Amino acid sequence: MPEIIVDLFWLLAFIFIVLFVAYHRINLMVSSLIITTSTYLYTSFGDGNFIWNMTLWLIAGALLTINIVPIRRSRISKPLLDIYRKMVPKMSSTEREALEAGNVWWDGELFSGMPNWDVLMSMPSPTLSADEKTFLDGPCEELCSMLDDWEISHVNGDLSEEIWKFIKKHKFFAMIIPKKYGGLEFSSYANAMVITKLASRSAVVSSTVGVPNSLGPGELLMHYGTEEQKEHYLPGLASGEEIPCFALTSPEAGSDASAIIDSGIICKDQWNNEEIIGIRLNWDKRYITLAPVATVLGLAFKLHDPDHLIGDADEYGITAALIPTNTPGVSFGRRHYPMNIPFQNGPTSGQDVFVPLDYIIGGKDMAGKGWKMLVECLSVGRAITLPSSAAGGGQAAAYASGAYTQIRKQFNLPISEFDGIKEALARIAGYAYTMNSAISVTSGAIDEGEKPAVPSAILKYHCTEMGRKVANDAMDVHGGKAVMMGPKNYIGRSFMATPIAITVEGANILTRSLIIFGQGAVRCHPFVLKELEAAEEKDQKKGLKNFDKALFAHIGYAISNLSRSLILAITQAKYSKSPVNTITKRYYQHINRYSAAFAVASDFAMLSLGGELKKKELLSARLGDVLSSIYLASTVLKHYENQGCKSEDLPLVEWSVRTQMYEAQEKLHNFLNNMPNRILAFFLRCNIFPRGRSYSPPSDILTKKVASLITATSKSRDRLSEFAYTTLEPGNPLGLLQEALLLSEDAALIEAKLNQARKDGIIQSSYLGHQIEEAKKQGLLNTQEIEKIKLVHQKVSDLLSVDDFSQNEFGKKQ
Ligand SMILES: Cc1cc2nc3c(=O)[nH]c(=O)nc-3n(C[C@H](O)[C@H](O)[C@H](O)COP(=O)(O)OP(=O)(O)OC[C@H]3O[C@@H](n4cnc5c(N)ncnc54)[C@H](O)[C@@H]3O)c2cc1C
Repeated sequence: MPEIIVDLFWLLAFIFIVLFVAYHRINLMVSSLIITTSTYLYTSFGDGNFIWNMTLWLIAGALLTINIVPIRRSRISKPLLDIYRKMVPKMSSTEREALEAGNVWWDGELFSGMPNWDVLMSMPSPTLSADEKTFLDGPCEELCSMLDDWEISHVNGDLSEEIWKFIKKHKFFAMIIPKKYGGLEFSSYANAMVITKLASRSAVVSSTVGVPNSLGPGELLMHYGTEEQKEHYLPGLASGEEIPCFALTSPEAGSDASAIIDSGIICKDQWNNEEIIGIRLNWDKRYITLAPVATVLGLAFKLHDPDHLIGDADEYGITAALIPTNTPGVSFGRRHYPMNIPFQNGPTSGQDVFVPLDYIIGGKDMAGKGWKMLVECLSVGRAITLPSSAAGGGQAAAYASGAYTQIRKQFNLPISEFDGIKEALARIAGYAYTMNSAISVTSGAIDEGEKPAVPSAILKYHCTEMGRKVANDAMDVHGGKAVMMGPKNYIGRSFMATPIAITVEGANILTRSLIIFGQGAVRCHPFVLKELEAAEEKDQKKGLKNFDKALFAHIGYAISNLSRSLILAITQAKYSKSPVNTITKRYYQHINRYSAAFAVASDFAMLSLGGELKKKELLSARLGDVLSSIYLASTVLKHYENQGCKSEDLPLVEWSVRTQMYEAQEKLHNFLNNMPNRILAFFLRCNIFPRGRSYSPPSDILTKKVASLITATSKSRDRLSEFAYTTLEPGNPLGLLQEALLLSEDAALIEAKLNQARKDGIIQSSYLGHQIEEAKKQGLLNTQEIEKIKLVHQKVSDLLSVDDFSQNEFGKKQ
């Protein structure tokens, strides 16, 4: 065999072994031995020159040496720890509490660059219990049937007395309260589906019901309340006698909620004719949902103890207490007007309100723990209420827009036949599918005991953003029908509501820029938090030991990810592990690839920018987008499995995953384009995109297939809008649209006959109403056909019509 081939063989074999060891994350000791043996074989039989061979032996020697822990610790880890301690800013207690909230789940796997798919795939498919199903089919359907959004929003500016009573009677406010206190004790999945259904019908009702089942007194009491507080409040909250609200936001502190100046001073005063130690509260809060009608106010304030009446500290920090709104000094009742969606929301203030210490949630021991309570509860709650509201809007928009564009004709064709409309319809359907997937998979994980803080932030941001895109598209495909407000407009108000979900529970720009990656990078990264904790460890010996362990594991992990990212990019991940061997296998493999690429980019971003990365929001937000995209894509795949791999849904799966993966690719590309260290950026580009950017967005053929799934009655269409309120009744536009769609499908042959007759010049008019008259005169259709097509015409005309008002009605001039 020619010598050059033999030499090449040894070189390739050597490279292959090194990459193999790194790719599979073989432990340090074993990989050192393998690499040393390979070095011996290569330098003995290969054709490397002296300098090259010596370099390899030096690397092998260094590898073997770092296995000797005492030498490694004293010579490498100790000096690095000293530098690291100087570099890393000290974490504030609020930052630490935010980081410690919740736990790490599938997000940690995606962050690792080598996801163990079992973690996701072993999660059972979420299901509804018999009680939950009965509630959704019973009271929830009934409540939807009682709602008239125009009456609520335009005429009354509130829910009617009857609706308030119904909501309380059927315990809509008590979905998360345990049964032993009289609540419904629903799973997170059921809670999410109830909100989805309500949101498909009325944003006022979904907001009203959503808040007490999200972050509020009920949730806080269950987790941190004393037994007495639970006994005192939870039964009342469950029965609806008590209406809760939670007041954190104040004029000076919105996104930076920890900056509130609302205060509580520990002092002595009279309470029930007795002098007690209590808290004198002063607050000025705004934007508080349910505050105008609340009976109990969850209040966040900063607790001070200047006279040291309860301990040695002067300041305790943010504390949460429950204040009955009839306590002297409490002001409430005035209302804000959020975006034409008049759910009860308003300011509240308190002046020198004196309350006992046991009004603190959890009692005196929980003084100063308010921030921790809030971030812990939010770490789960953010995955439910707002994402489900967006999904409800998405399900309704998909159902309505599919039918509407089929029954609305222009240029003699249903507008759904036009490619421009198909593109918008595909986005509506695809994003609705992605939202459904993310919510059902994540709420299912919560029900299995996970508290996924980073996925919750991902869902809060991305579902509400997808909801906004869907609402925009639904407006566009409906044209003037969606613009003209009135009882017949079923689209405009959910479009108006989108900024509300964008703003609350962590405004979206902040969530994307600071929380998803900012929190995720430290929280989900397998080693960063361990390194930070080791650096802050007071026991120097223990700190060094932990730092050394984390650091070398981190280095091994970074090398492994570099190798994985390169190999997976070159091979387009074709040989990587997938939990399924079906048509969706390639998507799992692409996620493997982007997980490794993301891990590499994150590590090098942190290495090159350190603490600065947090301030470089444009960069960190893009990394957060990559993590979000692969998280969302993986939930789509899991949802498809959970629903029994329905092949009709494959276009939706493909559109959703492709859109997310394309987004991941483009965001990584933009991240590299903007990385300040250009040499590093070039190196990373060679590693991550050695074959360029190969992922393309959904093709036109796919776009059309997805659009066609919602413009005709089908199982896919029903599954996509499974939890929307679609019942056929006179007040429900979704039910009526479906009825019209079915009728027009049934009359398709008659319409085809009329079209043909028009083409042949037998009838002249292009307007269906006149065509029917002409066809009747000419005996073109039989009586039954005439009745059928007349019915379609009448139903469609009703649905296409819009409202008009007299001068007096309009603008409430009378
Ligand atoms: C309808 C509605 C209901 C609400 N209900 C409640 C309630 O029940 N209880 C309660 O306590 N609060 C409630 N809120 C308050 C809500 O949580 C706050 O509005 C929210 O936290 C944002 O504060 P802000 O409106 O003052 O905006 P600001 O904090 O002024 O923010 C303005 C913009 O700046 C961005 N921003 C701020 N900081 C950063 C940063 N570091 N990086 C990037 N961008 C940043 C934000 O994302 C936002 O886009 C409600 C608000 C609304 C609108």
